[in-house]
Amino acid sequence: MTSTRDGTGGHRGGRTAEVRMDIRGVGESMKQRLLSARWVLAAALAGIALVAAEARAGYGFAVVAAVAVLIVAAFAPRRSLRERRAERDAEANRPPLGWITAEKLAAAVSDPLVIFDSQGTVIHVNGASAVAFPGLSVGTSLPLRFRAPEMQEMIAKALAHGQPLSIDYSEKVPVERFFRVSASPVGDGGDWFVMIFKDQSEIRRIDRMRADFIANASHELRTPLASVAGFIETLRGPAKNDPAAREQFLQIMQTQTVRMARLIDDLLSLSRLEMKPYLDPAERVDLGPLIEGVMDALRPLAEESGVRIEADLGSDPLVVAGSRDELIQVFENLLENACKYGRSGGLVEVSVNRAGQQNGIDVSVLDHGPGIPEEHIPRLTERFYRVDVETSRGQKGTGLGLAIVKHILTRHKARLSVASRPGEGATFTVHFPPAIG
Ligand code: ADP
Repeated sequence: MTSTRDGTGGHRGGRTAEVRMDIRGVGESMKQRLLSARWVLAAALAGIALVAAEARAGYGFAVVAAVAVLIVAAFAPRRSLRERRAERDAEANRPPLGWITAEKLAAAVSDPLVIFDSQGTVIHVNGASAVAFPGLSVGTSLPLRFRAPEMQEMIAKALAHGQPLSIDYSEKVPVERFFRVSASPVGDGGDWFVMIFKDQSEIRRIDRMRADFIANASHELRTPLASVAGFIETLRGPAKNDPAAREQFLQIMQTQTVRMARLIDDLLSLSRLEMKPYLDPAERVDLGPLIEGVMDALRPLAEESGVRIEADLGSDPLVVAGSRDELIQVFENLLENACKYGRSGGLVEVSVNRAGQQNGIDVSVLDHGPGIPEEHIPRLTERFYRVDVETSRGQKGTGLGLAIVKHILTRHKARLSVASRPGEGATFTVHFPPAIG
């Protein structure tokens, strides 16, 4: 009997040690273990024994039932000893979080981070903070540094109530910047607080660009639409019985609808290009026949503008890696612009230089028109940017041609350069990298 009790006691002792280790380890695994099949079966065993005794079914029945349940419990799935030991070792070797200092933690944060005390005085700034706010250092009073009312209010509330708070904050000097700033207490003591600045400037810039783009596109569409609507009204009213006026107005309406269609085509081209800005063009394209094809297509426009287009493309193939359709769009835009805006020069020249960009190919489109004042040149590829809006509209321009050219060339790893002397014409040069393979 004693030996049996000792054995049982020994077993219990082992179980207790195991449970204690689990508690020291992870509470969650303890819960899982308590719910494991073995515990459920053990409970069932006790239940059956009790019922058997109660019903006086006999000691023998109770023993048989208990043995059967024990056998099942013994074979119930359990984690291997090695697994449990490995888990315990990993747990024991993991360094406690306390050894990470506040400085190390702050340095690992990529956003500007400031730690301050209950007086609002800075006690630590991380590297990103030193870069973003050079004047902010240990000892600086935050309410004196950030005088904007929303910052003052947030600091005061954080210090008074110890509640985490966030606000939008912007600075105009030295450049306009937007931040989402949050202030939170560290721990429960109310002695230290942390402030983090999330820079939102880029997101705001993109939002603004998108809003400007939509406003510009809507404006460009609304102008011809308003004109068409006005003429419809006139045709139904005062000009109802005037065939000459009707003919003239219908002509204007047609021009306006063509303009709207061009604008929509250009907008769709841009959005298609934006969806695939980094696709590598797989085709090999010979620029010689491609440019000659574009020149043929533009001959009517050139004649209408009184311009002669001359090309010196040489006899060798001009092979670049590219998408044929997109490259046609590039040279259509450049030649069309040269004919439209350089018409007073009477001559547009296309030439090729193979020496450019480490054996790549440079193709230039040169006109002898009024040229482009220097200050406009860097902005020509912006959407809807025109040197003179009325001239562009008069030439059925949308202000999107060169933006499309730039997008296509970026996708081709090529680039555009513009040179011009006012009064002497303009040269648009496309620099293609060598076609590899
Ligand atoms: P648009 O549809 O107005 O022609 P682009 O994006 O093609 O738009 O060109 C932008 C602006 O660049 C034009 O409105 C025009 O002011 C100027 N531009 C382009 N090409 C020339 C050129 N060859 N000579 C003078 N100005 C030009």
